[in-house]
Amino acid sequence: MSVIDKAVDQKIKIMGHGLKITPQLKQELLAEGYYHAPLTWIGDNITGPFSFDGYGRSDSPFEVRRVDGQLQVFEHGKFFTNIAFYKRPKFWEYQWAFKKNKSGGATTAVFLDEGVSSVLTPCGQEEFPENENATLELTGGKFPFVSLACYNGLCIWPSWGCTYTKSKNACRFCCIPGNYDEDKLLYKQPGWFEALGVAVEAAVEEIGDEIGKFSITVDAGTIPGPDKGAAVYIKTLEAIKARLGYLPKASYIRAVIEPPTDEKWLQALRDAGYTDIQMDVDVYDESERRNLMPNAKGYRKISDYLKAFKKAKQIFPGEVATQLIAGIQNEEKLLAGFEQFAAIGVPTLLTPFLVGGLGKKLKREAGADVPSSDTMKRLYDRASAILVKHDCPPAQFRGGVSSLAEFMGKRLKRADVVTHDNDRVHDRVPAFA
Ligand code: SF4
Repeated sequence: MSVIDKAVDQKIKIMGHGLKITPQLKQELLAEGYYHAPLTWIGDNITGPFSFDGYGRSDSPFEVRRVDGQLQVFEHGKFFTNIAFYKRPKFWEYQWAFKKNKSGGATTAVFLDEGVSSVLTPCGQEEFPENENATLELTGGKFPFVSLACYNGLCIWPSWGCTYTKSKNACRFCCIPGNYDEDKLLYKQPGWFEALGVAVEAAVEEIGDEIGKFSITVDAGTIPGPDKGAAVYIKTLEAIKARLGYLPKASYIRAVIEPPTDEKWLQALRDAGYTDIQMDVDVYDESERRNLMPNAKGYRKISDYLKAFKKAKQIFPGEVATQLIAGIQNEEKLLAGFEQFAAIGVPTLLTPFLVGGLGKKLKREAGADVPSSDTMKRLYDRASAILVKHDCPPAQFRGGVSSLAEFMGKRLKRADVVTHDNDRVHDRVPAFA
């Protein structure tokens, strides 16, 4: 086992359980202008999210409290670590209003992060809604055009709909579930691209000189067609260019997409301005794939991915990456896939299963659960040895869902523009430690 930084160890431990927070404290934080609780930092360079199973659920030993103005995590009632939350950015006010479900009673809104959908629920509401339509009711049907992810990431989702949800064979671990609804195909709605351009402009203005510390990611539920949504992803960057006259100088611009069946779309994505591409395998073993993804994606051969990876490596100047989810598949098979990809220079985000959305059903019916911190540390230890063996760097810092890069010593500093002045916590000592 590698010797890992105490803060990374603390992060992985918390991730294995989730954080409890009282609705009252959540409400206070919201009123004080913090981004919501999942986007948590330990010090200024280790990031959450920690919301997997938290928010008042009683089985986590970890709880957020505020003591003498300092936000802290307690484990079984004992001080564990100081933490801080992102500041709520002003550009988050640019929100798309879902035509339906405008209940008007919502007190806040949802964000989507790469790999995580979560919600800061109204005071008193402690459960993450299993049904996305219930989430829409909670939020008044509003979502930001540009979300802020836990690794200084700006995320854009041109569609909440997924072709597999439409055909009622969604991936069983999907964290953006809910009934299919044409209204969720935002890119089809009149004015959506123009409004997105305005929101991105506001984000770029607010971030200012720190834009290079941020990344931009475009992600979506799978969009039908042989391009798997590439044309929509291209229009997304075109809308930004049309508004700004250029693409922001972010650290990278990444498309997260199922491999298009026609490789010409990879070049088209690059030509549009994407520097990086991520094509998530999610589950490696062919029979496990079909069981956990009972849809066309689950039936796509790993050889399809390998072909797309190799082609993309010739095209994209940045990173070609993938993701595998720990906790729902055989560990040895997962690591075999991890090694096969590392051998061709494709790093894998090693992501713990999240009990959100359809994952709740998978937990109930198949006993899947968030992997323990010991499991994740064991996997990270073996995965980092594989990367070193193949001279493949870990996937670009994504200190949220996958902690592999942090485990291997990579750090990302929280940007000042999304930091409250009083949030510099790393050298503060709790009053009663
Ligand atoms: S491809 Fe699978 S995990 Fe992704 S949005 Fe569709 S159903 Fe969910």
